Amino acid sequence: MLTITLKPGKEKSLLRRHPWIFSTAIAHIDGKPEEKHKPGATAVVQAADGRFLARAAHSPASHIRARVWTFRESEAVDHALIKRRIQQALAWRVHSIADTDAVRLIFGEADGFPGLVVDSYGGKNGWLVCQFQSAGVEAWKVPIVQALIAETGCANVYERSDASVREREGLPLVTGVLAGAEPPDEILITENGVRYAVDVRRGHKTGFYIDQRDNRRLVMEHAAGRTVLNCFCYTGGFSLAALKGGATHVISIDSSGEALQTGQRNMALNGFNDAQAEWRDADVFKALRSLREQGQHFDLIVLDPPKFAATPQQVERAARAYKDINLLGLQLLRPGGLLFTYSCSGAISAELFQKIIAGAATDAGVDTRILRRLSAGSDHPMTTHFPEGEYLKGLLLQR
Ligand code: SAH
Repeated sequence: MLTITLKPGKEKSLLRRHPWIFSTAIAHIDGKPEEKHKPGATAVVQAADGRFLARAAHSPASHIRARVWTFRESEAVDHALIKRRIQQALAWRVHSIADTDAVRLIFGEADGFPGLVVDSYGGKNGWLVCQFQSAGVEAWKVPIVQALIAETGCANVYERSDASVREREGLPLVTGVLAGAEPPDEILITENGVRYAVDVRRGHKTGFYIDQRDNRRLVMEHAAGRTVLNCFCYTGGFSLAALKGGATHVISIDSSGEALQTGQRNMALNGFNDAQAEWRDADVFKALRSLREQGQHFDLIVLDPPKFAATPQQVERAARAYKDINLLGLQLLRPGGLLFTYSCSGAISAELFQKIIAGAATDAGVDTRILRRLSAGSDHPMTTHFPEGEYLKGLLLQR
């Protein structure tokens, strides 16, 4: 048996049920040498006085040296735990998610699987796309995949474990078929009545930004008769939603030519009029400035940038970038217009994000009010003890 003993006082975060054990908190690790070096081996974590704290997956190469499977001494880490947790995760999605066949089935810590993401595209006849981002779930990959197939009835499982976080766990970047058939170049999904093509092999993350589903719906509900500017559009998620909702014209900007091509493909899939949409391959920071110089204005603007702050050290620089685009966005907004603005940086809190936006409004010299606070959909749960999980936050502002 592997035992991780913490330094005195370092049990506090675990007693608060934070699920990570950092290498700096550990006094010593005891067990057979082969166990100690096996990534993902289950360890008992104990306080300096020997008190049981948790069972956790040991990750010998990572700064996050162990991730908690359970805080209950009576709960074993075994096939039954995997099955139980998958069943529980699926039951919630069935209950809470409608109008789509692109759903996040498992979202890491909040679903009891630290470092695991499983997205479902196209239901039973489609594909499950998984990211194994920590040594613990990597070690249990085979039983996890078997249980996913048994519980969902979907036989096709594809792996997209090519996120750089794997490297910090000492795991190689891998992609490929885990079960069933190779995915096609495009899987067609329908979200809120809009069809999208998803390339699960080459697209960002697992292929689609499932987390913005509710926000795309909100844009749809507010788009009628409006001109729209969608910045960082990727494959046009918000653009298509706006057109479906009756937007008169949409300009979509992204620096990925491939994503823009899929955006245009999505136009065709929905039979939308090409004359209503313009796809621009450009840097948003520059494009917003030139739109301002041209004196252009819009009724509805979406700013959904990539993660500007990947670590707490990058927060300051990221804050300047968020402020910059939001200042420009507010200036491009017609009075009465709506700005949907987001940050997906876990290191930027909702509170800080609001402060940044307030600063942007001050410097832009405009009045704004917050109509709504926005977040990811309910298939992206967060644990109350793990604020890092609350990565996506947004505001709906009116000028
Ligand atoms: N709103 C999208 C997801 C956006 S992801 C949706 O709902 O599907 C962020 C996007 O920003 C990516 O497509 C990436 O290619 C693009 N991007 C990153 N930096 C950029 C920049 N400086 N200018 C333009 N696009 C950028």
